Amino acid sequence: MKKHLFINGQWQEAKEYRPLFSPYNNEQIAEIAFADEDDVDNAIDAAEKARPVMAKMPAHKRASILENLVELLKKNEEKCVRLLTLEAAKPWTTAKGEVARTIMTYKFAAEEARRIHGETLPLDAAPGGEDRLSFTIRQPIGVIGAITPFNFPMNLVAHKVGPAIASGNTIVLKPASQTPLTSLFLAELLQEAGLPDGVLNVVTGSGSIVGDRLVSDDRVKAITFTGSPAVGIGLRSKAGLKRVTLELGSNSALIVDKGVDLDAMIPRAVTGAFSFAGQVCISLQRAYVHEDLYEEFVEKFVAQTKKLKLGSPLDPETDVSAVISPKDAERAVSWIEEARASGAVVATGGGRHGNIVEPTVLLHVDPKQKVSCQEVFAPIVLINKISSIEEAVFYVNDSRYGLQAGIYTNDISTALKAAEELEVGGVMINDIPTFRVDHMPYGGVKESGIGREGIKYAIEEMTEMKLISIKK
Ligand code: NAP
Repeated sequence: MKKHLFINGQWQEAKEYRPLFSPYNNEQIAEIAFADEDDVDNAIDAAEKARPVMAKMPAHKRASILENLVELLKKNEEKCVRLLTLEAAKPWTTAKGEVARTIMTYKFAAEEARRIHGETLPLDAAPGGEDRLSFTIRQPIGVIGAITPFNFPMNLVAHKVGPAIASGNTIVLKPASQTPLTSLFLAELLQEAGLPDGVLNVVTGSGSIVGDRLVSDDRVKAITFTGSPAVGIGLRSKAGLKRVTLELGSNSALIVDKGVDLDAMIPRAVTGAFSFAGQVCISLQRAYVHEDLYEEFVEKFVAQTKKLKLGSPLDPETDVSAVISPKDAERAVSWIEEARASGAVVATGGGRHGNIVEPTVLLHVDPKQKVSCQEVFAPIVLINKISSIEEAVFYVNDSRYGLQAGIYTNDISTALKAAEELEVGGVMINDIPTFRVDHMPYGGVKESGIGREGIKYAIEEMTEMKLISIKK
C-alpha cells in the first residue's frame, strides 16, 4: 500500500517514501510519502487559493459538507476502526470509542457552523460614542497549519479540521508520522462529502521539515498544534504574530478524600490510568489518596488492574496493547526502575512483553522521580498517601503541567475550594481527570498549553473578530 500526498484535491507523488511499521508486531503496513519543502509550499499554495472559496461559502453549505462527512464516517466505521488498530495499535474497543467520538466531533462542528455570530455593542456608553449602530462579526482567519499527535489520530484531527471547515478556513494538515492513514482516509471522505479542492491538504513526512515550513510562511495565519510540550514551545517561539493554539502534555492527578465510596470509582480510575496504555494527554498518572482510605484504595486498585487483559489490538477483549514504539517501551521500564531504585514500591506490573508494558502501579513515589514530575505516556500510575486535601492540592500544583485534575469528595466546600485552587484548565469533581466530551472547553495552563479546543472554542481561535460601526 503506497500512500501519496493529498494536495489541491489530487493524490500527488512525492520524491521519497518511507515504510510505516505496526507498533504491535513491527510488520510493515504501508509506504508513506515523505514531503519535502516544495511539497509543503504546494500545499500552502493550494490552501491559499481555496481561501476565497471557503470565505464566501454560506454557513449552511459548510454545515452540510460536515453533515455529509458524518454520514460517510458512519458508513465506514469499521474501516476507520481497523486503520486505528493498524497504525496506532489502539485496542479494537478503544478504537471504536474514538471513531464514535470523531463522528460526534464533526456533528458538533456542523452545528456550530450555523451559529457563528458577533454581538451588538452600545458604543454610546462612552461620551462621544453616540448615534452609532455597532456590531462585531467573526471572519475566517485564513490558512491554518494543523499538526497532530499519534494518540487520537482521528478525533484530534477532527478537533482541528471540523472547526476550521465550520468557520470557513482552509487547512494544511500534518498528521503524526506513525498515524497518517486515518488522515489520508479523511481526505478521501471529505472530497466525497463535497469539500472543494485545496481546502484540506494532507502533507505527511518529517515533523520538523513540514512544521518549520508552516510556521515560517506568512500565508499561514494560524498554527494549531497538539503534541508534546518541547515541540509546541519550539513552534510558538518561531511563530511571530501568527495565532498559535497549543494542546500539550500533562501528568494529570486525582485526589481522593476520606469517606468516598471506593467500589464505585475504582474501575473508572483504573480505566483512566491504563486506557490506550496510558497514552492519553489526560491519563491518570498521579493519585493522592487520604490516609484513612489509602490501604483499601491500593488493594482495590491493584486487584482491578490485575484483571486487565494484555494482547493484540485486533482482539476485542484486549484492554492494554503495545505502546507506540520500542523506544517508548524501553523508556517506560527504565523510569519504573529508576523510581524503584529511589525507594518506590512496585505494587503490580513493572515488566514488558515485546512492546507491551505491563500496567504498573507504584507506591510511595518521590515527587522528583520522572514517573511523577514528567509525563509518563505509558501504563504507569503512582498512588501516594496524603493527610489533608491542602497537601494533595500542593502536590497536584507542584508540576510544570496543568491540563485537568479530578477530586472525589463528599464535601461540597472541600470540592469547590480545591477546584478554585487547582492550577489546571479543567477540574472534574467526583470524577477522574481523564474525562472529555468533545464540545466542552478543553486545554491547559502552564506547560500544558495555550488556547482552548472544543468546537465552539476552537472556532474562536480560528476566526478574527471585526468591529463595524455605522454613524447614523
Ligand atoms: P510529538 O512528538 O510532539 O508530535 C506531535 C506532532 O508534531 C507530530 O505530527 C510530529 O510529527 C510533529 N512534530 C515533531 N517535531 C516537530 C517540529 N520540530 N515542528 C513541528 N512539528 C513537529 O507528540 P506525540 O508523541 O505524537 O504525542 C504525544 C504528546 O501529545 C503528549 O505529550 C501528549 O500529552 C500530547 N497530547 C496533548 C493533547 C491535548 O489535547 N492537550 C492531546 C493528545 C496528545 P512526527 O510524527 O513526524 O514527528
